[in-house]
Amino acid sequence: MNDSKGEIKVFVDPLKCCAAGVCMAVAPFSFAIGPERLAVGINPFGDDIEAVLRAIDECPMHAISLVTHGPADQQLSERK
Ligand code: SF4
Repeated sequence: MNDSKGEIKVFVDPLKCCAAGVCMAVAPFSFAIGPERLAVGINPFGDDIEAVLRAIDECPMHAISLVTHGPADQQLSERK
């Protein structure tokens, strides 16, 4: 997703995801089950950023990455 605040994407590594579903429980509008029955990031703005960051922290496989470019980098680093 790209806007005047920069670009933010949520990425789930399919080689690490074990489909435990923690991310979907914590941030249900940002993650969903994909075609391979593994989680996929669908919308980094689906939930508030704290929920997305919590999903990243609580993923048991450390499979989620938040990729940012531009001004979004600084905004996120200030919230962590
Ligand atoms: S919490 Fe992590 S391991 Fe579990 S479904 Fe989400 S991305 Fe996959």
